[in-house]
Amino acid sequence: MAKRGDNVHDVLVIGGGPSGSSCAYWLAEAGWDVAVVEKKELPREKTCGDGLTPRAVRQLADMGLEDSMTGAHRYGGLRSIAFGRTIELRWPEVPGFPTYGYTITRHDLDALVAERASKAGATVLQGTEALEPLEPAEPESGALAGCGGAMVSSKAAASPAELRARYVVVADGANSRFGRALGTSRDRNYPQGMALRGYYRSERHDEEWIESHLDIRDADGDVVPGYGWIFPLGDGRVNVGVGLLSTDQRWKGLNTSRLMDAFVAQAPKSWGISPETSCAPATGGRLPMGLGVGPRTGINTLAIGDAGGLINPFNGEGIAYGYETGRMAAAFLGQALAGGGAESIADYERHLDEIYGDYYRVGRAFVRLISDPRRMRLCVSSGMHSRAFMAQLMRIMANLMRPQGSGPAEVGYRAMVGMAGVLQRLEKVGISV
Ligand SMILES: Cc1cc2nc3c(=O)[nH]c(=O)nc-3n(C[C@H](O)[C@H](O)[C@H](O)COP(=O)(O)OP(=O)(O)OC[C@H]3O[C@@H](n4cnc5c(N)ncnc54)[C@H](O)[C@@H]3O)c2cc1C
Repeated sequence: MAKRGDNVHDVLVIGGGPSGSSCAYWLAEAGWDVAVVEKKELPREKTCGDGLTPRAVRQLADMGLEDSMTGAHRYGGLRSIAFGRTIELRWPEVPGFPTYGYTITRHDLDALVAERASKAGATVLQGTEALEPLEPAEPESGALAGCGGAMVSSKAAASPAELRARYVVVADGANSRFGRALGTSRDRNYPQGMALRGYYRSERHDEEWIESHLDIRDADGDVVPGYGWIFPLGDGRVNVGVGLLSTDQRWKGLNTSRLMDAFVAQAPKSWGISPETSCAPATGGRLPMGLGVGPRTGINTLAIGDAGGLINPFNGEGIAYGYETGRMAAAFLGQALAGGGAESIADYERHLDEIYGDYYRVGRAFVRLISDPRRMRLCVSSGMHSRAFMAQLMRIMANLMRPQGSGPAEVGYRAMVGMAGVLQRLEKVGISV
């Protein structure tokens, strides 16, 4: 790999989470000179449910990491609980994806992927924060500003220094201060989630199911449009959390800490979850979803993972989409570096729309549907009466459909795409359904 110099690189990646490390790995693998700045020292804690679906596992396997995940707990499927009913469903068989997932703390997982990027040849600068973009160019309307790198500060250096690069990737997560400095913002018409998680000691820590509760209630016993989860970690602990849509006006007043307390109190007693078995206070974070953050590309800049609003609106999953968009960005950056320039960067955005556009449009419509408490109650309680329906819904929600498939999940999904398109056109002419 050709190193251009200590502080001038082909690509500078801001953030060493799933999206940044994946992007750095694929760039380094292709022989490009890439540097990642990560403000924390890895391993570090990151608030997350720690759940990996088969989509994320596929990406980890492609990076050659599956055998190194010693601290991971393998599980086989999802147990959904709502309105007194329980349905257990194994992950489906879909070509190209495994039939299992893992749980693993982000403390361990993110360090593993960053180390993989480093072994592939990326320069991973830990404890190094990007303070601001260098020479941000005036962006064209609707585009991200271009920039020449970042001013960075690290514990190792007495004063901030310039880190220059031909291309800059924004992978600094949900808050994305660097992205905002280049002009990104969240479209407030798009949904956004808010979630809280804590660790608890539990005798059921090595179960082979992750558990999802679809009828969580507030302290008054009223159902709220969100979900609770209990994910066994296999190390004596379970990850317990609640997620809800913070953008819907009807839920603005909800206090997530109180909701978490209510969920812990309502969770099945056999998990042994209580304030006494809590390992530490719960922590929370935002989930920017459905392609709700933009613009994502400029002449030499692009945004990936949470910084681009790429969380799946159906299920709040973001790790797989961080890995996937990091990998896609690396491919288009490779073309840009090989001579394609800004046009190749623009191709990244076109590719995102091709891969996720329809799916996220349907996801956003789904979120709108379930944000009405009555409709949500009706959908969940009738869905829970049919195992076959829930099996197809699980495949749609985890984005595990066969590309040319003709099964009920694929047919149902294509109908939803059509419906979401109609809704979008009605909205454009001012009719809200
Ligand atoms: C409570 C909760 C539960 C969740 N549960 C799940 C789950 O079970 N499964 C799932 O798939 N997804 C889950 N998600 C979503 C998931 O955590 C994110 O989608 C995922 O972390 C996105 O990866 P990323 O690399 O884009 O961002 P991040 O993981 O946030 O990584 C960004 C990195 O950039 C670094 N950084 C930030 N600013 C700078 C700077 N200026 N300079 C240098 N470094 C910087 C940060 O330290 C961080 O390491 C959950 C989210 C929350 C809040």
